[in-house]
Amino acid sequence: MIELVSVSRCIECNLCVKVCPTHVFDEVEGAAPVIARQSDCQTCFICEAYCPVDALYVAPFADRSVPVSEDDLEESGALGGWRATIGWGPGRTPIAKTDSTPLLESISPRRRG
Ligand code: SF4
Ligand code: SF4
Repeated sequence: MIELVSVSRCIECNLCVKVCPTHVFDEVEGAAPVIARQSDCQTCFICEAYCPVDALYVAPFADRSVPVSEDDLEESGALGGWRATIGWGPGRTPIAKTDSTPLLESISPRRRG
């Protein structure tokens, strides 16, 4: 579930507002978006993946909110951690480049017409 918008990191691009499929965020004129409907969060991590400055933290629990500390998240590198995991962002290798589908296809029968 989405737990944190880092106001100090946010550049107010509102990408998270646009990409969230369940409209969890509200845009705020001249400020960082706010988490307005946390219980609607689907824990899909899309907002964290798209945030260009790693200002968001989505905790890996879909059924409950958990307390977080921005200092701890910052120190552990968890802010924007999903974006790093999937290799999005400058200087990273997108996880799609390590896609093992061709390997799987080579060892299992193709099921395409
Ligand atoms: S995507 Fe990141 S930088 Fe952009 S508004 Fe959302 S939290 Fe701020
Ligand atoms: S994790 Fe998904 S559903 Fe939750 S706030 Fe981010 S984009 Fe929206």
